[in-house]
Amino acid sequence: MKTIGVLALQGAVNEHMVQLKRLHINVVNVKKPKQLEQLDGLIIPGGESTAISRLLIENHFIEPIKKLAIDGKGVLGTCAGLVLCAKKTTKPNNADKQTVPLDLIDIIVERNAFGRQKESFETKLDIIHIGQSVPALFIRAPSITYTGANVEVLAKVDNCIVMAQQQNILVTAFHPELTNDLRVMRYFLDLCPSN
Ligand code: GLN
Repeated sequence: MKTIGVLALQGAVNEHMVQLKRLHINVVNVKKPKQLEQLDGLIIPGGESTAISRLLIENHFIEPIKKLAIDGKGVLGTCAGLVLCAKKTTKPNNADKQTVPLDLIDIIVERNAFGRQKESFETKLDIIHIGQSVPALFIRAPSITYTGANVEVLAKVDNCIVMAQQQNILVTAFHPELTNDLRVMRYFLDLCPSN
């Protein structure tokens, strides 16, 4: 059975754990870097990327998470988690000094990209490799403004890239954990090698 951790420093931790349990996965509530060693995959949840970034540094998570990714374990970053997985973010204040990116995937991200009018919205996405009409909830969501050559774009809203993958690293601007549709989570689990 696969063991998946949910980074539990801040944000939508419990919702991811509930989805994983529905899929009969061993779930770890990750509060210390040492817990990463037993995992086949890690989820970095949505929340406030500046707060999570600060807590990642304070709790010495940066290098152990980079190692987990280099070792080929699966990583899913949702919303603020996507922001943290990027190599660089823009906005607010252009060069974003409030988040220290983990640089796990070759993308550049614009935070809060959908503006005030559209701060939160729900839509259905056609996602490459996953399927059609996948319900997707966006809450002050980022968008991906650049993807490197090794990154596959999996979904867009209008012209904005909202889901992408680079091998074992998967990122979504929306919150798959806030719907009853388990397809995104199942796809992520397939990216996590089992021991
Ligand atoms: N706007 C938040 C940020 O940049 C992300 C919001 C979310 O995770 N729902 O950090």
